[in-house]
Amino acid sequence: MKFFQNIKNIWIIYKNYLCSFFLCLHILNIFMSTMHLFVRNDFIFVIIKVRIGEIIFLSNNEVSKLSIIIDGQEISKSIQDTIKTNVKGFMIRPSVAVIQIGDNAENNSYISIKEKVCSSVGIYFRLFKFEEGTPELTIINKIKELNNDDYVNGIMIHLPIPANYNEKRLINTISNAKDVDGLTDINVGRFVNGKKTLVPCTALAVMRILEENNIEVEGKHVVIVGRSKLVGKPLIHSFLLRDATVTVTHSKTENLGDITSLADILVVAAGEPNLIKDSMVKKDAVVIDVGINDVNGKLVGDVDFDKVSKKASYITKVPGGVGPVTVAMLLENILLCYNTKNSKK
Ligand code: NDP
Repeated sequence: MKFFQNIKNIWIIYKNYLCSFFLCLHILNIFMSTMHLFVRNDFIFVIIKVRIGEIIFLSNNEVSKLSIIIDGQEISKSIQDTIKTNVKGFMIRPSVAVIQIGDNAENNSYISIKEKVCSSVGIYFRLFKFEEGTPELTIINKIKELNNDDYVNGIMIHLPIPANYNEKRLINTISNAKDVDGLTDINVGRFVNGKKTLVPCTALAVMRILEENNIEVEGKHVVIVGRSKLVGKPLIHSFLLRDATVTVTHSKTENLGDITSLADILVVAAGEPNLIKDSMVKKDAVVIDVGINDVNGKLVGDVDFDKVSKKASYITKVPGGVGPVTVAMLLENILLCYNTKNSKK
């Protein structure tokens, strides 16, 4: 991880030197043109100037084209390796219980990814799947049972759930100490008030991605597209806690592009493919694409990656960007619950 980070840092420095080099070439080109007026040897001057022009053109294109594409898989892998090593040293394996309501194919697929990753690091994964139509009280009773189970460290309700259930009531039944999604009213309140608590995994993932890439947040203008409780809202507080200036947009925002193009850091979580075009992004902005959309069987984000990646300084890809880091943050939250419980003994 450090090795790749160093390579990235070297590239940033190298890119700056490269820019200075091209500036020198431009100056040289102007100098040659001036000399041409005095020494009238067309052949030599035309050849030299064409060569310099070629280098400037090709290389300037290369430099502006290259933004750093953030590899979420790599970040996630390194976090998973650390967790795996920690878990190996535990007497009792940490465990997480997941409540699923209904049998939605997309949910099944996300749950199976989480199960695979938990198992691979040694976390015991227990799935409690309820048919749609199961009385809410049955699910509430199961959550209460899990709250009292000493061998369950974390509990989460896989969202979204069918609309006829009271999501808020179900979430608030989860013990605050086991709320690995950081969504109970108490945990949200603690977070907003700057207290140490469990924080929603996607917000943690966005912050971790910036941290891993040494991207400065303090004083920067951050624009967040989306205000959901899972992503947008926790991000507002995450960025405010890091002294950024935050603007939040949503589906009723007028002239979205005018606002997003002011962002030093643009985080998009709207769930709308190709919502963010290159004209809506400031040059050299950092672009974090949280969106995951299935377009004709292909996963894409909310950002027009091909074009925006030519303008941004850093950009995440979809898939393989925020998603894998979110799963890694879930593991960290499970471990936080485990360690907090065991440190109290
Ligand atoms: P929600 O549907 O709960 O929220 C979407 C938000 O985006 C809402 O606040 C909505 O505004 C806003 N929005 C929708 N359309 C527009 C638009 N045209 N312009 C501006 N704002 C808009 O979704 P989530 O927050 O749960 O998820 C958002 C995306 O992120 C989805 O694609 C989801 O799959 C993905 N996701 C990815 C994760 C990851 O780990 N990578 C984790 C969680 C989600 P309003 O409030 O007015 O309706």
